[in-house]
Amino acid sequence: MNGAGDRLGEWLAGRVDASGIAPVDRFVEAPREHHPSYLLEGAKSVVVTGRAIPRGIFHSPAYGLHLLHRASHSAYNELDSLGLKLAIRLESEGDLAVVVPAYAPLTVSDSGTRGLLSLKHAAVLAGLGSIGRSGLVYNEDFGSLLRFGAVVTTAALGGSPLVDSDPCPAGCTACADACPEGAFAPDFFNKVACALKTSHSIFQLTMAQDRSPANRELVLNTAGYNYWLNCSECQRVCPLNS
Ligand code: SF4
Ligand code: SF4
Repeated sequence: MNGAGDRLGEWLAGRVDASGIAPVDRFVEAPREHHPSYLLEGAKSVVVTGRAIPRGIFHSPAYGLHLLHRASHSAYNELDSLGLKLAIRLESEGDLAVVVPAYAPLTVSDSGTRGLLSLKHAAVLAGLGSIGRSGLVYNEDFGSLLRFGAVVTTAALGGSPLVDSDPCPAGCTACADACPEGAFAPDFFNKVACALKTSHSIFQLTMAQDRSPANRELVLNTAGYNYWLNCSECQRVCPLNS
């Protein structure tokens, strides 16, 4: 990182559990509509922040999903609020900035449901971890327990070092073995099977008659905002979260 990136890192320390910076030129594989420069003209950097949820959630005999729900949505709200402060701080120094929502609003099209920017890939490009066999980002200190937010800015802040090692121990298949939906096909992660398991039951009610992308996007970003997480088995059994 350069001097400005270092000062930003100091400001973020204590406010979040992890942070990193990805220069926009690292986003070469992002789809055009979900590239940082599609969120902000002249974007040069993406500052990615991570807030951890407690490991104890996966050790609750009865209420793991209830606790996961509240902790995840509280983390999203906190990341969004911090993003606003960060964006205003960057703009007070003469740059432009926008906050990437930690969860919704999402975009829905015929090709699927996506965040404005993939926070998972932004986290990897900002050096916060690498992707494991479950398809989640694994951080050295927090496993898959980090929830991510980001700010896209015109400020040139340098870049954090990347993590390019495979986080998964050789031969581990615990997540695939535990998945009740069989979402882990040999060379393919069935995102739809997982999403149907984890999404809010209101989706089935409100989308029974209109499954158009526009209606799905409306429902997802309003009634589905505080969605219920109906499964966390792949995270619960993962040795990287223990
Ligand atoms: S959250 Fe549940 S359904 Fe989705 S991949 Fe993990 S174990 Fe499978
Ligand atoms: S359960 Fe095993 S294979 Fe799956 S993500 Fe965790 S370490 Fe990797």
